[in-house]
Amino acid sequence: METLSAATVADPVELTRALVDIESVSGDEERITDVVEAALRGAGHLAVERDGNVLLARTELGLGKRVALAGHLDTVPIADNVPARIDGDVMWGCGTSDMKSGTALALHLAVTLADPRYDLTYVFYDCEEIEAERNGLNRISRTRPEWLAADFAILLEPTYGEVEAGCQGTMRASITTTGVRAHAARSWLGSNAIHAAGDALDRLRRYEARRVTIDGCEYREGLNAVRIAGGVAGNVIPDECVLDVNFRFAPDRSEADAEAHLREVFDGLDVTVTDSAPGALPGLADPAAAEFVAAIGRPARAKLGWTDVARFAAAGVPALNYGPGDPNLAHKKDERVEIPRIRTGAAALRRWLGR
Ligand SMILES: [Zn+2]
Repeated sequence: METLSAATVADPVELTRALVDIESVSGDEERITDVVEAALRGAGHLAVERDGNVLLARTELGLGKRVALAGHLDTVPIADNVPARIDGDVMWGCGTSDMKSGTALALHLAVTLADPRYDLTYVFYDCEEIEAERNGLNRISRTRPEWLAADFAILLEPTYGEVEAGCQGTMRASITTTGVRAHAARSWLGSNAIHAAGDALDRLRRYEARRVTIDGCEYREGLNAVRIAGGVAGNVIPDECVLDVNFRFAPDRSEADAEAHLREVFDGLDVTVTDSAPGALPGLADPAAAEFVAAIGRPARAKLGWTDVARFAAAGVPALNYGPGDPNLAHKKDERVEIPRIRTGAAALRRWLGR
C-alpha cells in the first residue's frame, strides 16, 4: 500500500502536495483514508479509530482540556488539475485550497506533535462536498457523538489565514398565497394569488436586517426572496403563488428563534419552513480560543456562510474556521494555495498547541 514518508509528513507543504496527488472526489475516499490512517497509526502517541471513511485520532494525556482539529478528505470533481503543480510560491491543483492544505496541517500536527499543551482530537472525514446526509462528520455526530467531544474545535477550511469564528445559520421557507382561478377576460370573478404575494414582497423590501456583535465579531443577517413561482396560463388568473425565502441568521438565534422570527415577519401569511441548519456561536470567550486568536495575531471576524463548525456547535463545542486556502479559489479549475500561508499556518498552530 502506498504510504506517506516521515519526511513528507514532517513538511506541511510536501504533505499538501502528496494529499492533492491522491484523487479523492466525494464518494471515492477509500484510498486517501487508508493512507492517512496508516500515517496516524504510525505515530505511537495517538489512539486511532476508523468508521467507514472517517478517522479519529486522539491523544490521551489527561491534560484536562481538549481541542479538536477537523478536516474533510474529499474534493469536488477534478478538472484536469491533478497532480499538483508548484510554480514559485504557489501550489496549483484540485483541493489545494479546499481543503487539503488545511487537512495537511492537521495531519502534520497529529503525527509530529507528541507533547501538546492540550489533549488533541483529530477528525478526518469524507463526503463534505456533497449532500449533507452523506457528510461523514454529520454521520459521526449522530452515531458517535463522543468522537466530537472537546472544549474547543477548529475546522481547517479555507479562510486565507484569517480566524473566522462561528457561522451563521440558514433557513429556507416557502410563503404560499392562494386565490381563485378565473378567465383573464373576466378577472373580477377570480382572485389573483400572484398579486397577493406582493404583500410578502413588500415586507421583504421594508425588512431591515439585523447586525449583531458577539465576542467582537459582527454577524450580518439577511432575509431574501430567492425564488418565486406561480401562474397557470396566459389567460388564467392564477390560484397559487409560492415565494421561497432564505434567512441567514446570526448564531445568537436558535433555529426555533429563527423560525419564530420568520413567522412574525410574515404574520398572517402561510409559511412553511422547508430546510434549516443552525449557526454556531464564536466561542471566543473560551481561554483556549482567545489564546489561539492571539497566536494567529489577527483579530477574529464572523463567518457568514454555513460550515461544518455548526456540527461541533450542535454538540456543545464552540468552533472556528482557520485554514491557509483562499475560499474564493475553492472549487475552481485554477484552484491554488500560496505556499507561505501553509507554512505560516503550521507555525501558528504549533506555537499555540506546542509547549
Ligand atoms: Zn471544504
